[in-house]
Amino acid sequence: MIPELDHPTFRLAVAQFDQVAEAMNLDTNLRERLKTPQRSLLVALPIRMDDGNVRVFQGYRVQHDSARGPSKGGLRYHQDVSLGEVAALAMWMTWKTALAGLPYGGAKGGVTVDPHTLSLAELERLTRRYAAEIFPLIGPDKDIPATDIGTNQQVMAWFMDTYSQQVGFAVPGAVTGKPQSIGGSLGREEATGRGVVNVTIEALRRKGINLEDTSVVIQGIGNVGSHTAKIFNEAGARVIGISDVTGGLFNPKGLPIDDVLQRRRSGLPLRDIKAGDHLTNDELLTQECTVLVPAALSEQITGNNAERLRCRILTEAANGPTTMEADAILNDRDVFIIPDILANSGGVIVSYFEWVQDVQRFFWNERDIRQRLHTIITSAFHRTLHFAEKKNTTMRTAALMNGIDQVAQAHTARGLYP
Ligand code: NAD
Repeated sequence: MIPELDHPTFRLAVAQFDQVAEAMNLDTNLRERLKTPQRSLLVALPIRMDDGNVRVFQGYRVQHDSARGPSKGGLRYHQDVSLGEVAALAMWMTWKTALAGLPYGGAKGGVTVDPHTLSLAELERLTRRYAAEIFPLIGPDKDIPATDIGTNQQVMAWFMDTYSQQVGFAVPGAVTGKPQSIGGSLGREEATGRGVVNVTIEALRRKGINLEDTSVVIQGIGNVGSHTAKIFNEAGARVIGISDVTGGLFNPKGLPIDDVLQRRRSGLPLRDIKAGDHLTNDELLTQECTVLVPAALSEQITGNNAERLRCRILTEAANGPTTMEADAILNDRDVFIIPDILANSGGVIVSYFEWVQDVQRFFWNERDIRQRLHTIITSAFHRTLHFAEKKNTTMRTAALMNGIDQVAQAHTARGLYP
């Protein structure tokens, strides 16, 4: 590993890759290439703050692989963003898009900033400068950013506008996760959460558990977590625990999800909402439930808490929420894990729909989008399950093997340039 990329999340992504590459006997030359991203760009972002001073933020865009098509991946605004973390997330995007059969490679971008400390005007200036600095790498045929932690539809709209200003005409296909008024897709905002519920329902069926008998705990009630909660609730499951960065809210009888989400939207932190017991995030993770959904940051389930988890199914909505050590413990304890590259792929699947609609200038209705998402994600689930059972391995290994194999085939077919 090149020292610039050294970071716990990148080490986790590489350790997963090494384990699977060894098991599938992947060509060693290809292994070396796939452990290092294709392109990494670091940019300095000098921003005039509202008080008149200039602050310089650090931005990144990493393209892990483009053998199968343009690269695709979210844009994260968080105070802990670093090159190594972005590189790990870009690598996972490569396997994720390949597993879902989308014609993309993986990328990720980010800025080291806590967006909550910026005014709206500062956020806009930061986004526009970041888009202008990474402009040489991006475009609808090259690399297409989307939302991730700390970014939203408005950020994507500024991004699309900045890209369009550079080329002189509107390019909706330059980013996904935009508002509908400028080429966003119906169903994109809820897509990751909907995909999480789709694959969990398949896992519940497999285990013979009814939705009505299912209790769900969700860590992180941002974009992904809140839609996951809402859709599980509508489907008839009982959402008994949720959390944000301020802590968890727990009620074994079931939380009034619509009401809680409504109050969150009006700006109340979870710790100020009275609908159950207030727990720490660690306590929330270890409550008894049928399904646990980590939907916040990476490396939340570790060797320190894996023994204490009391769920039957772990659906990884976040990227990289489980360390290798915790993964081994949970597998020994027979917890059914739906790995991140499968569980949260609903976001990139509907991003793909958005890009296709933008390029074709022809828009689909919500029913089509939900049905097509369901078809793609549940077929990826069953392909993975079938492979895992045939090879007597875990869902994570099966999903990674499938994704890596698609990418390896593309590299072999294209050959080595020059
Ligand atoms: P977001 O910024 O909308 O929400 C993140 C949430 O996590 C917030 O509610 C925050 O309060 C909470 N949080 C932060 N630290 C926490 C902690 N220590 N404990 C509990 N909660 C904590 O982000 P998002 O877009 O919902 O993304 C969440 C996860 O899903 C990330 O890992 C992201 O990479 C992954 N993901 C997102 C998408 C997408 O479409 N947005 C797609 C695929 C995967």
